[in-house]
Amino acid sequence: MQTTLTVQCPWCFERLELWVDPYTAGEFVRDCDVCCRPWRVFVARDASGRLQVNVQRSG
Ligand SMILES: [Zn+2]
Repeated sequence: MQTTLTVQCPWCFERLELWVDPYTAGEFVRDCDVCCRPWRVFVARDASGRLQVNVQRSG
């Protein structure tokens, strides 16, 4: 099952590898490793376990 993918920070536009716990789905908040501003991360998986992640600004 896929657990990492590359996302782009909605604040500083750096591209970062995001690790997602295999049992995580839905929404969580994390800080950007580069600019430390908060992301709201929406996680979904398709039937084959492929991650679909949407990152938006939080706060
Ligand atoms: Zn950032």
